[in-house]
Amino acid sequence: MPSLAQALIEWHAAHGRHDLPWQQDRSPYRVWVSEIMLQQTQVITVLGYYQRFLQRFPDVASLAAAPLDEVLHLWSGLGYYSRARNLKRAAERIVAEYGGEFPITREALSELPGIGRSTAAAILALSQGQREAILDGNVRRVLSRVYGIDGAPAALETLRRLWACAESALPAREVATYTQAIMDFGATLCTRHEPLCMHCPLRAECVALATGRVQELPARRTRAARRTRAVIMLLATRGDGDVLLQRRPSQGIWGGLWAPPDFENREAAEQFCGSRLQRAQLDGAALPVLRHGFTHFDLEITPIRALCEGLAGVMEGGDTLWYNARQPPRIGLPAPIATLLSAASPPP
Ligand code: SF4
Repeated sequence: MPSLAQALIEWHAAHGRHDLPWQQDRSPYRVWVSEIMLQQTQVITVLGYYQRFLQRFPDVASLAAAPLDEVLHLWSGLGYYSRARNLKRAAERIVAEYGGEFPITREALSELPGIGRSTAAAILALSQGQREAILDGNVRRVLSRVYGIDGAPAALETLRRLWACAESALPAREVATYTQAIMDFGATLCTRHEPLCMHCPLRAECVALATGRVQELPARRTRAARRTRAVIMLLATRGDGDVLLQRRPSQGIWGGLWAPPDFENREAAEQFCGSRLQRAQLDGAALPVLRHGFTHFDLEITPIRALCEGLAGVMEGGDTLWYNARQPPRIGLPAPIATLLSAASPPP
């Protein structure tokens, strides 16, 4: 039986993915952007975003120099927006501290915002062939099953054992191919719900298969009960159809993106209309409620419309703008808000 690494490298040659855009011209910058986009997001979703992002920001200098709104605009709909804010901040630091040269040591990378141990290792292994072990979600699943590691997923002891397995599995050569292979293997063959054990090159040595625990490993996280948060969202609309948006604070959900102002209740929305919007009238007509799931809770948005007379209303400023759906500005809009705005805009 070949080693785990050799078996996966051979499997990858026959069955792995070879034509993903970030597999061509593997510079640290291109690998970094792909690794961040692929966190909590499937390859199929990332493809279009990645191409557009790289077209607009082909290198670290262009990303560092861009307005944050432009970066969030190209991230709109991908979710987990702190990833985009961290990319931008890290690019600025690479320009300021390394003269725009992408650092290629684990220590330097781990200092940058949004780059943890596994992401740093993936950048170094995939772009430089450095002998660094990764432990992303797919790799955790594969190693937990092959070596029968069953502790609570977030426990330090479980992580220590998994890292030790990841490091001992590293081959002496072909590290980049092996790293791509184990990622692809977890994503396409040893999947969470329907692993294809019959076709698996590791089935002879897989502890989970031998002990009938494939579905149990890795152990699931215990999740807190999901809660629902309800907000009233005010669609303040001017005579020309433009809708008032505010930039959300950088901390919290949709940080740095733009959305209509939201309130805990209708009274607070009415108060805002009275104090901030000139001659605004709340429209009684009910608009459909929108629901959006975040990792730990569901957001229930009840939109209400306020009609502002003429073009009067709050002034545009750094954190406020009137959104024109016919000529949309290049800003970050969460997907549910983009849906809400297109539903609320009058047809051209
Ligand atoms: S035998 Fe099944 S569970 Fe074990 S590594 Fe292969 S696909 Fe995964």
